[in-house]
Amino acid sequence: MLRRYQCLDCGGSDAYRSRRRTFLENYILPFLLLKPVRCANCFRRSYASVFTAARERASGHNGPQFANLVEQPKAIVVKKGWGEAVLAGLREMGTLRCDRCGEEFVIGHPPKIADKKTAEKQAHWLERLLAEDHKHEKKHADRIELPQAYF
Ligand SMILES: [Zn+2]
Ligand SMILES: [Zn+2]
Repeated sequence: MLRRYQCLDCGGSDAYRSRRRTFLENYILPFLLLKPVRCANCFRRSYASVFTAARERASGHNGPQFANLVEQPKAIVVKKGWGEAVLAGLREMGTLRCDRCGEEFVIGHPPKIADKKTAEKQAHWLERLLAEDHKHEKKHADRIELPQAYF
């Protein structure tokens, strides 16, 4: 039973699934039975009920969400000096310093998929994540899994 999408901005009735980007979108929205969608007409991004009809994006980098869980090992980032053991077997791709609190993080990639360009994108992603933490006065996580979507 799919509901018809209706854009609040332009009234368009055609929506695409949008990639889940944030912690909220990945872990909280599903519990609220919501999903991110993008209006095909005006590109407004919004959340809609999971029962709303939305097309898969043509360039499907979306993949099944559960694929990540079986895949080993993963690209991660850890607090510097905290998890050298965790980085074992991973190639260190660089460090990133949070400009708010000065805490340093090391990005580690499994050697098979180690990629500098990807690490740069992940560093940007991480910068935003760290800034979010400060905005919400949250402690930075010791170990963060990097988004698979960048590979
Ligand atoms: Zn629209
Ligand atoms: Zn910080």
